[in-house]
Amino acid sequence: MKITETIHTFKHHFRLAFGENHYTDRFVYSYIFLGEKVCLIDTGVWGTALQLQGYLNQIGRSPKEISMVLLTHAHPDHIGGCLAIKKASSALFYAHPADKPWIEDVERQYQERPIPNFFELVEGPVVVNRELREGDTVSWNRGKTVRVLETPGHSPGSISFFYEEEGALITGDAVPAVGTLPIYVDPQTSIESIQKLEKITRVKHLLSSWHEPISGNQIHTTLEEGIHYIQEIDEIVIDLSKTMPPETSGEELSLRALERLGIKTNKVLW
Ligand SMILES: [Zn+2]
Repeated sequence: MKITETIHTFKHHFRLAFGENHYTDRFVYSYIFLGEKVCLIDTGVWGTALQLQGYLNQIGRSPKEISMVLLTHAHPDHIGGCLAIKKASSALFYAHPADKPWIEDVERQYQERPIPNFFELVEGPVVVNRELREGDTVSWNRGKTVRVLETPGHSPGSISFFYEEEGALITGDAVPAVGTLPIYVDPQTSIESIQKLEKITRVKHLLSSWHEPISGNQIHTTLEEGIHYIQEIDEIVIDLSKTMPPETSGEELSLRALERLGIKTNKVLW
């Protein structure tokens, strides 16, 4: 889908297994910058990264033209397609040093964050060619740059990108979408990251992995809703951990929290 002359987005649909017997349907957006070369922000999962390559062909470009992949963070739905992109192009991979170990060693990521269908989502590891930190600028095309903003909380090395010429703020998973499965490692840091994003001026497009592309007044509303959602979840988790027996598993606690949020999970069908 075209957003501006130089920005397209691609929606990846996939299933995330949850606990041993549940899954939830999810989607994630990648963003594609088109210039003399092609820059990709996040790759989706293994299978859908191949569909993304098909999309490039449809719009008259080739996966071979992908010269760089900027990764907002290390989770499977963002890095799962990296190896497929690497095979199809000579792209270099960019990410924050705090998430780099999980991108370069996916076995380690699986051990430390064991999503049951991890290896359906992630084909394999790639080397991070350049580390990105707060304030770095990446020249993705002649005369066109994006600025890096550290927005941790969802993961330690979560970063956002501001493409000033287009007023496009790409936030990865830093801003939760109300009503969807919430994920973060540090609620307070997540809130502070969203507050940092609110301070950026001249934003015309909020391009998140979890929301449909957002523009105009809705940008501020979405950021505020994200902050309130994290606060609401945090209160539910604190309340549940006080009222449920101490031997309750993390999985059980998470399922109860999702029930209170009104989020449905489904019994595994495959
Ligand atoms: Zn994530």
